[in-house]
Amino acid sequence: MASLIDGKVISQTIKDELKEKVEKMKEQGITKCLAVIQVGDNPASTVYVRNKKKGCEYIGIDSLSYELPENTSEDELVKLVKELNANDKVNGILVQLPLPSHINEDVIIKTIDPAKDVDGFHPQSVGALCIGQKGFVSCTPAGIIQLLKRSNIEIAGKECVILGRSNIVGKPMSLLMLRENATVTVAHSKTQNLKEVCKRADILIVAIGKPKFVTDEYVKDGAVVIDVGINRDENNKICGDVDFDLVEPKCKAITPVPGGVGPMTIAMLLNNCIEA
Ligand code: NDP
Repeated sequence: MASLIDGKVISQTIKDELKEKVEKMKEQGITKCLAVIQVGDNPASTVYVRNKKKGCEYIGIDSLSYELPENTSEDELVKLVKELNANDKVNGILVQLPLPSHINEDVIIKTIDPAKDVDGFHPQSVGALCIGQKGFVSCTPAGIIQLLKRSNIEIAGKECVILGRSNIVGKPMSLLMLRENATVTVAHSKTQNLKEVCKRADILIVAIGKPKFVTDEYVKDGAVVIDVGINRDENNKICGDVDFDLVEPKCKAITPVPGGVGPMTIAMLLNNCIEA
């Protein structure tokens, strides 16, 4: 039977560590503030934004909230981001994605001052990660590294297969695993012999957005499986990209969905806010 990598417990530990750090910073007169911008009222975004603000409150940092109407123009959003860039009281800026289709996300991400880019999406942050320089790292992949390290899972020298190559999960994940000295393969929708490729993995990280896609046929005996997916199954229940019931008996350790990778994303965002 696999051991369960419990993201709820690990993220709570990180949040408590951050809370202590914030208290110490406050004693030295240092305060931190995250500005959160949401455009429109996408229900999923509203939940994410609420949880991010709750996280700030828990660890003791300020948050500023901007809830803008759906018809906000790109120029208006750019103007607000520039104002926040210039505001010394604001350390981190987060623009909740997705944005309405009339706003170009790339333009907005590039407008955020890289020094306040706590989501780690700015090209400068991504470039810094690529060449091993200091910069903000995208929160979900950074959270996965913490899950592995805090579960005492060795990364260096291991075969790691990452299924999915998105800019927010797969690509930064591959760079982080490389930084941790894994041997990294990135697979995607055009990969041939996908099952065989995945079966090479000592650590298999799946981020494709396809409910229960990865079955036991994709997993080597004794592998560690990290499931990033958040989907709804046929009964409208939240499930991952991995078929947990089939895969769990085969592997050494696995993350559940929910309660695995998900809770880590906010913990790492809060960490970035403190670093900002
Ligand atoms: P994207 O849709 O941006 O990317 C999906 C990737 O999976 C693409 O690279 C795509 O390949 C690949 N892919 C899709 N279908 C297949 C297939 N059949 N075989 C092989 N590869 C495939 O997704 P995201 O990275 O944004 O998100 C992935 C999942 O993770 C989603 O369920 C999302 O909800 C979840 N997520 C969870 C987070 C968390 O906090 N836990 C945070 C972010 C995302 P190609 O490039 O060739 O099209």
